[in-house]
Amino acid sequence: MPRLAWFLPPILPDILMQGATYIADPSLQSLRDKKRPLVALMASVMVVICLALGGASVWLVWSSHEMRLREARVSTQNMALTLASQANTAIKIADVILDDIVERTEREGSTGLAGERLSIYLARQIRKVPAIHGLFVYDAQGVWNATSLGRQQKGNNADRDYFIFHKNNKQNTTLISAPVRSRSTGHWIIPVSRRLEYSDGTFAGVALATLRLDSFERFYNSLDLGNTGTVFFALENGTLLYRRPFQEKLIGTNLSSGAVFTSYHKTGRASTEMLVATVDGIERLYTYRRLDDFPVLVAAARSKQDIYAPWKIFSTQILLGALLSIAALIWFFRKLMRQIIIRDHVETELRTASLELEKANAELKTIALKDGLTGLANRRSFDSALDYELKRARRGHQAVSLLMLDVDFFKKFNDAYGHVAGDDCLRAVAGAIAGSAVRAADTVARYGGEEFAVILPNTDSAGALTVAEAIRTAVMALGIAHAANPAGTVTVSIGAATASAQDHGAADKPGLLHHADAALYQSKNDGRNRVSAWRDGAS
Ligand code: GH3
Ligand code: MG
Ligand code: MG
Repeated sequence: MPRLAWFLPPILPDILMQGATYIADPSLQSLRDKKRPLVALMASVMVVICLALGGASVWLVWSSHEMRLREARVSTQNMALTLASQANTAIKIADVILDDIVERTEREGSTGLAGERLSIYLARQIRKVPAIHGLFVYDAQGVWNATSLGRQQKGNNADRDYFIFHKNNKQNTTLISAPVRSRSTGHWIIPVSRRLEYSDGTFAGVALATLRLDSFERFYNSLDLGNTGTVFFALENGTLLYRRPFQEKLIGTNLSSGAVFTSYHKTGRASTEMLVATVDGIERLYTYRRLDDFPVLVAAARSKQDIYAPWKIFSTQILLGALLSIAALIWFFRKLMRQIIIRDHVETELRTASLELEKANAELKTIALKDGLTGLANRRSFDSALDYELKRARRGHQAVSLLMLDVDFFKKFNDAYGHVAGDDCLRAVAGAIAGSAVRAADTVARYGGEEFAVILPNTDSAGALTVAEAIRTAVMALGIAHAANPAGTVTVSIGAATASAQDHGAADKPGLLHHADAALYQSKNDGRNRVSAWRDGAS
């Protein structure tokens, strides 16, 4: 396949042909070699289109998958940043206020008048910052010295963890504790506390700011996390402060062995990762961040299912579309191949039929022009040859001679030796005649029955007599026994007539035939086995 060779490696068309056969129709193999490169080319075009379609769809699906993940990363990162900033600000405000309280208490004390003034101050502060639920100053025994709730409120918090912590630890850092239910209001609150000391460094009590959990909740609920997303914030040691969706029983539980904290301890301050939550076993894309100023971790997460749900629909549509298009292409290709096969078969059949017709025509022509028994020209072909030669002779001012031959006593031959032998004899005589008329232009024909005719173009009467005599001798020389013939063998009588160069215009076909026949009659009358030439007045 030379036309394909310049762009296809030699083996490729065969492979494509095999492929096309597999896809389209096994009868493709029956295609003629001429059509095979076309089919291979079409198959290659189809393969390229299908591959391009399939490849483009897979690429689209893959890239949209990546895009979804990228978008989800950006969105959880933004959420975590917002959460961290909000939590950091809320705790920072509490911390600043606590700073102020510690400074004031250590300077002025928190009992008596100072305590009353402090309570007023605390109540004023709380009105300014709605996220703070309450402000408290406890003495070394846990007794409420001052609170933002008013001087008359009384209580003892010596049993709270933060109180015990500050009592036993000489650290002046801010402590954030696990949420508890407020003893004063029953709300969930996050305690943020500082140790108070006397000037000699001994424990003087605790200053406490409590943050309302529901203020975080309101903010967290405003975030769009999808159906199974989550946010939480927890102490660095793993103690859960808040988690959305809110479950009371989870507050204060320890997440330090969970996926987020394991990753945090490994990776550091902030990271975005696909992790499986210990709490509910759902796989999510988490972004966690440690607050800048406090040992607190916030995390925002969207579930893998939520992230990829729209992508799954999109991918299914794209892949289905591509599959349908490829199926349609293959269907179309099959149809096309069927057409090609049908066409090819029709062409082949037509070609075969036309060859057979040509052959039959040639045979018919032969049958029409040749004598079946002797293989010589038949009467019809003799007639047209004589017409032609007479015309030619007229045009070229040439002579043309005609010999008429008849086998002598042939009826008796048949009677004596049978028809089969008679046929054999006629064949032998025909051979002898043809062998004697040696010019290429001579026409030897079977005129009918046991009669023969020879047309001798450009031959005068003398030449005709010579040929006739040669024929007569040649037939005798065959030596075919013929008991009823006085000669003892098969003989022929011959009559010759010539349209000479001079009177060619006068010699017409019936005339020439008549003259030759008359001369033959003459030979018969004169005793057979001889040659007579027609002469005017002889007939
Ligand atoms: P004559 O010498 O006067 O020509 O006598 P003849 O017997 O040859 O002439 P006649 O016309 O009486 O007989 C011709 C015979 O040739 C009659 C026929 O049976 C025979 N014949 C004609 N065609 C064929 C043929 O194709 N095969 C055979 N075997 N015989 C044929
Ligand atoms: Mg006869
Ligand atoms: Mg005869």
